[in-house]
Amino acid sequence: MSIWFTEKQTDHFGITMKINRTLHSELTPYQKLDIVETAEWGNMLILDNMVMTTQKDEFVYHEMIAHVPLFTHPKPENILVVGGGDGGVIREILKHPAVKKATLVDIDGKVIEYSKHFLPDIAGMLADERVNVKIDDGFMHIAKSENEYDVIIVDSTEPVGPAVNLFTKGFYAGIAKALKTDGLFVAQTDNPWFKADLIREVHRDVRGIFPITRLYIANIPTYPSGMWTFTIGSKKYDPLEINDNRFTDIETKYYTEELHKAAFVLPKFVADLVK
Ligand code: SAM
Repeated sequence: MSIWFTEKQTDHFGITMKINRTLHSELTPYQKLDIVETAEWGNMLILDNMVMTTQKDEFVYHEMIAHVPLFTHPKPENILVVGGGDGGVIREILKHPAVKKATLVDIDGKVIEYSKHFLPDIAGMLADERVNVKIDDGFMHIAKSENEYDVIIVDSTEPVGPAVNLFTKGFYAGIAKALKTDGLFVAQTDNPWFKADLIREVHRDVRGIFPITRLYIANIPTYPSGMWTFTIGSKKYDPLEINDNRFTDIETKYYTEELHKAAFVLPKFVADLVK
């Protein structure tokens, strides 16, 4: 008899996938944490019944949320990741030779602990000497930071539970304060099929704070609708105005120099959200 995990992406629609076995399951002080072995996607991290990352398609999200901002900034030395406890974004950040320090602030140490154990190919670089892992609320960490980071990446869960404050105008204002005068940030901003209002509101809030605000997309099959968005806010550098010699050779499976630019070409129904 097969066991299936179903993520209800709306009240009327979801995805379902066959599970070989459950590797770990617990209720942490912040969320329900499950790590399962799937038949199709390898090991998968689930938080509050939402797919966070899978061994088979994680490279898309982690490459696109890291390399677009880090190739946009000419000298990305000091990086902050809010959330990101599975370690995938850190692994991609460390591919950039300019990076001297990467701080990861995740509210739930259990995500880090079990990602290291069951997702070593994703979480394996969290122990790198350039990485500083803090267990804290990202909202509080940002509130305490000033003029410190070149790039900030918000790799949080959906705007529910512990992450609800990470999609507010106040948080984006705090990010602007935490960034250096030429800093930039990117946040995962969900999908345009079921979360159009979120994308529209975040873009409006970020546009009110950053002179350069853009939306880009990627295809992530295990995320709701498969079309995922990222919102970038920049004080000085435009992700579409970077000269070609900036693109150093790094190992990727999804991100390319051409795709860096193409990802900002939006389907009309998505572009209309952020007009
Ligand atoms: N890529 C996934 C996505 O797009 O939904 C996110 C993956 S990552 C595992 C999400 C992380 O955000 C979790 O580890 C969770 O503990 C963390 N998180 C949620 N709220 C947070 C907060 N307020 N401060 C710091 N980390 C938070």
